[in-house]
Amino acid sequence: MITLLPDHVANQIAAGEVVQRPASAVKELMENAIDAGASDIKLIIKDSGKTLIQVIDNGSGMNEVDARMCFERHATSKISKADDLFALTTKGFRGEALASIAAIAQVELKTKREDAELGIQLTIEGSEFKAQEVCTCANGTSFSIKNLFFNVPARRNFLKSDRAEYKYILDEFIRIALAHPSIAFSLINNEKEQYRMPKETLRQRLVSLYGKKYNPRLVPVEENTDIVNISGFVCKPEFAKKSRGEQFFFVNDRFIKSSYMNHAVLNAMEGLLQGDHHPSFFLFLEIDPAKIDVNIHPTKTEIKFEDERSVYAILRSALKRSLGQYNIAPSLDFSLNPDYQVPITSKSRTIKTPTIEVDPSFNPFEQEKEIGNSTLSGRFSPPSKPFRSNNPAEKGEHWEALFEEIQDDMNTAIPEYQKEITSLENEVKIEGTRFAFQLQQRFILTQLKSGLLIIDQQRAHTRVLYEQYFKSLVNSSPLSQQLLFPQEIHLSPGNMELFKEIIEDVESLGFDISIPAEQCLMINGVPFETKSGEVDKIIDSLLDSYKNECDAWKSDTHKYMARSLALSNSIKTGKALNTEEMNQLVDELFVCETPFVSIHNKPTAIILEMNELLKRFQ
Ligand code: ADP
Ligand code: MG
Repeated sequence: MITLLPDHVANQIAAGEVVQRPASAVKELMENAIDAGASDIKLIIKDSGKTLIQVIDNGSGMNEVDARMCFERHATSKISKADDLFALTTKGFRGEALASIAAIAQVELKTKREDAELGIQLTIEGSEFKAQEVCTCANGTSFSIKNLFFNVPARRNFLKSDRAEYKYILDEFIRIALAHPSIAFSLINNEKEQYRMPKETLRQRLVSLYGKKYNPRLVPVEENTDIVNISGFVCKPEFAKKSRGEQFFFVNDRFIKSSYMNHAVLNAMEGLLQGDHHPSFFLFLEIDPAKIDVNIHPTKTEIKFEDERSVYAILRSALKRSLGQYNIAPSLDFSLNPDYQVPITSKSRTIKTPTIEVDPSFNPFEQEKEIGNSTLSGRFSPPSKPFRSNNPAEKGEHWEALFEEIQDDMNTAIPEYQKEITSLENEVKIEGTRFAFQLQQRFILTQLKSGLLIIDQQRAHTRVLYEQYFKSLVNSSPLSQQLLFPQEIHLSPGNMELFKEIIEDVESLGFDISIPAEQCLMINGVPFETKSGEVDKIIDSLLDSYKNECDAWKSDTHKYMARSLALSNSIKTGKALNTEEMNQLVDELFVCETPFVSIHNKPTAIILEMNELLKRFQ
């Protein structure tokens, strides 16, 4: 009953893993050119790679036999035995890329070795050789991939918009160009030259790719140890971005993704970055190939370090030192636990003793006309923060309370704004009809007895969701909604292993998950307030958070999970809200246990007091 699959079928299946989109073909072809020793590589794209992807290099070229051989599966000149895997100096080694590409596209190869007089030209289509002839061509190799996925319509339809696919291609191009500043690269898209970069230094290459403004931002990083050599640049923290844009790790000149190493960078920069900002960095790690495993995933963007912890520590201290040398980090105290360095309140918090202000130009008659009844409010401005009772009889209590709270404050460093407003809950509730107004799709303005309450919608909603999710985790009573169309999510083997460690917790969050096959999750239900389009992102961020904070997570699973999910699902800045939604958010915020502090320890809301307003209006 069992038969061996014909090669072209096997290749097509393998292609599913290796070539997911035009950008994957770009990556494979460019890497082959680098492996062939090219010093000049040209990439030509048409219609985001759907019509044409061409890579022209001036590398070694191939002779006739190799030119045919290279399309065979497991055909490679780069390794010959398993041990070679641990002495890799090339990008490729699996001998799969060309076979896969040829199985799902029309490929034209022109290649010539320096010592040959004539080159050879080959056409192959859906794994079938169509033509072969000698030709005149330059030394080196040119691969043209036409009509990618021509025979796999499902794949072709699955591609995203031209713009999105081109973006993926650019990403690959930039990664490779960054990793190899000593190679000249050019990129021509739809007949327009987008980049032309000569052989240059890394700093020059960064400027070529990102513009002159980058030059002054770059802080060099350099550290050589027995375990790892680190070089590259990190951008000054003030240029950190809202989006996780330019973050590059290269291990032995191969671009890799590693949330663990990312964490090392963040850790080194802790206290220098604004809460939601991401630093830019371009870091090169050089490690003995025997100490890493690249062969974890067909796309090779994940690798395993033998001694991950040491690499982490070295990376972190190298960064700290660089930032310190360039006078960017305030402190270089390595012994200090960075967890304690979070600058919560130090600057903004001043504890005021109550003062009596005397205004020499004060005219009691005028004042009375304007403000009417209160005799106190004109002459003595009440303590500007944080208590606002109008009933003098209550004052005594409050002063005591203030004193207690200041004491408290000093001990636990709870931010001032939290105390300032916790007493306001009632004040808000007694407002009859409440108006709510959205400012710049970011703040919600609403009325209090004592003034104007301004709420940061994203922080507030994150706080609300966090507490709701946390509660449902603690009570293990998740609110779940079934998905109309169960969603399939593929995970890398490493991530799958990790995921299995947390699957029970994830389920208690409200996910309904089955595992129909290795490396595949089927999501049948999700926690409340989850948008179905976000599911894979959420799983990703849960995994990320688990990976990054594994130990802390284990001891405080509920907190970390609730956090991660709340961050993913919250209403973001920039979202327009209608009155009902705003009111709902305000209501939900006020039933929170800690309504006024965001999960990152920042204010979720502030108050503009009437007193303050009156003062401003003189
Ligand atoms: P791998 O890169 O894993 O060896 P590929 O399928 O990408 O597998 O390539 C197969 C072989 O074809 C390579 O090992 C190399 O010998 C040859 N080859 C591919 N591209 C080039 C090129 N641009 N110049 C010279 N030789 C090449
Ligand atoms: Mg290759």
